[in-house]
Amino acid sequence: MADTTLDAMVIGAGVAGLYELHQLREQGLRVRAYDTASGVGGTWYWNRYPGAKFDSEAYIYQYLFDEDLYNGWSWSQRFPGQAEIEQWLNYVADALDLRRDISFNTTIERAEFDEDTNRWTVTTDSGETIDTQYLITCCGMLSAPMSDMFPGQQDFAGQIFHTARWPRDGVDLAGKRVGVIGNGATGIQVIQTIADEVGHLDVFIRTPQYALPMKNPSYGPDEVAWYKSRLPEFQQNLPNTFTGFEYDFTDAWDDLTPEQRLARLEDDYENGSLKLWLASFAELFSDEEVSEEISEFVRQKMRARLQDPELEELLIPTDYGFGTHRVPLETNFLEVFHRDNVDAVPVKNNPITRIAPEGIVLADGTVYELDVIVMATGFDAGTGALTRIDIRGRGGRSLAEDWGRDIRTTMGLMVHGYPNMLTTAVPLAPSAALCNMTTCLQQQTEWIADAIAYMRAHDKTVIEPTEEGEEAWVAHHDELADANLISKTNSWYTGSNVPGKPRRVLSYVGGVGAYRAATLEAAAAGYKGFALS
Ligand code: NAP
Repeated sequence: MADTTLDAMVIGAGVAGLYELHQLREQGLRVRAYDTASGVGGTWYWNRYPGAKFDSEAYIYQYLFDEDLYNGWSWSQRFPGQAEIEQWLNYVADALDLRRDISFNTTIERAEFDEDTNRWTVTTDSGETIDTQYLITCCGMLSAPMSDMFPGQQDFAGQIFHTARWPRDGVDLAGKRVGVIGNGATGIQVIQTIADEVGHLDVFIRTPQYALPMKNPSYGPDEVAWYKSRLPEFQQNLPNTFTGFEYDFTDAWDDLTPEQRLARLEDDYENGSLKLWLASFAELFSDEEVSEEISEFVRQKMRARLQDPELEELLIPTDYGFGTHRVPLETNFLEVFHRDNVDAVPVKNNPITRIAPEGIVLADGTVYELDVIVMATGFDAGTGALTRIDIRGRGGRSLAEDWGRDIRTTMGLMVHGYPNMLTTAVPLAPSAALCNMTTCLQQQTEWIADAIAYMRAHDKTVIEPTEEGEEAWVAHHDELADANLISKTNSWYTGSNVPGKPRRVLSYVGGVGAYRAATLEAAAAGYKGFALS
């Protein structure tokens, strides 16, 4: 006999989990959410490293389903920091009275589907067992840190932190010798934030990043009133754009003259947001020449800021196209390297081989002596959160083993062989990477809630994608992905940051609007591609 019996169990109390819990409770289900963390927030609970902040505009990184909820919170900036975002998610949890149905400090270790009862048995790290009809994973796409990376790490004599496990009380970096490994979106935010505070900073750089300067004005009553008045526009617009942002691709490259194109690029660059990436020219994802022209536009901007051939060589990307993996926004990131207390250490041809008690050791034997090592080394994205749980579907099949061979899902919402397991932020949907996350997570959690409502209304108890339905979606996904230049670049977008992970573009790249239409059409056709019994 299980300790707890539920209709639906939600793993995760971040952006998706909170909303899923709310929706299913509104339907009258016995539902409970579980989270390893001691509070709500998901990504915004864990990533409390120095400088962590949005790079979606705060007013669109919001729940859009409830006008009062939207209007009851006011942002202080266009791109606020982690503390404010965590406060906002606490506001949401309180406003919807969610806490009473969340178990914090609880890690899910195992979930097993019973083919006789058609129910899941879930086990937590404290040994509690939960018997549930539906298992809904809201674990986030970037929640399984790549933290155990180098031999000797545990013997380091100083302090070592992965950015996604930054201590709540912060870390005193004043005057210390600090090394940062990684210069993705996270590393960039850390580096630009701590350079001033530390004694000396060594930044270990393997692959440079295209950097776009963020413009981050403060918001007072006028700006807040302005964006709140736009809620109906956001409700209408965001779910139907290419990436769930307020802006979208409008002009075709070939329709404009070179002067018009340049003016458009300048304009988008000056916006100080991700507009240059997500609303300039869609051809940057498909046409090598356009990709190169836009990449060169960004490189010139970076050169003008660096004005140092050695730094330009190290910090400006040349071997992949702008936007073929996640573009970071930054504030004086490049200028940090002009400081006397900051060194960029190239590790592409002279890699980090191990961590010694005194610091980081490179292949040529050089040792960088450090007091603190910051691992901004990223995540096992999209799949890691679930493969780190022992999930067993039909016939005892293991999700970790299945995805260890081939990463497949049906619309990122279910996996064949795992009945009644509904997923968010997993591969083959835009929510795996190419999306303003709240837009996509709201859409997926609403689809799941609607599917469960449909099942109950039609006296069905089991839903599962058919093998053919899944194959069709995987083939459609791959066709689009293979034609997209994202597939040619190594990054977490293709899983290449995790040794042994099967390569596949994780995100659906057909666009958020098209994806939404496909999922709604399947539902409207009585869940086409899924078997209901
Ligand atoms: P990431 O983009 O995967 O970057 C990891 C970094 O670690 C890369 O620079 C990588 O270099 C480096 N690295 C990994 N192993 C290494 C090794 N053995 N030696 C040297 N360098 C190594 O991870 P992230 O920066 O945490 O970002 C992940 C995602 O989180 C972002 O793309 C974004 O979607 C999200 N994020 C969002 C925000 C926001 O503003 N909202 C902020 C931060 C992060 P290589 O490139 O050479 O592998």
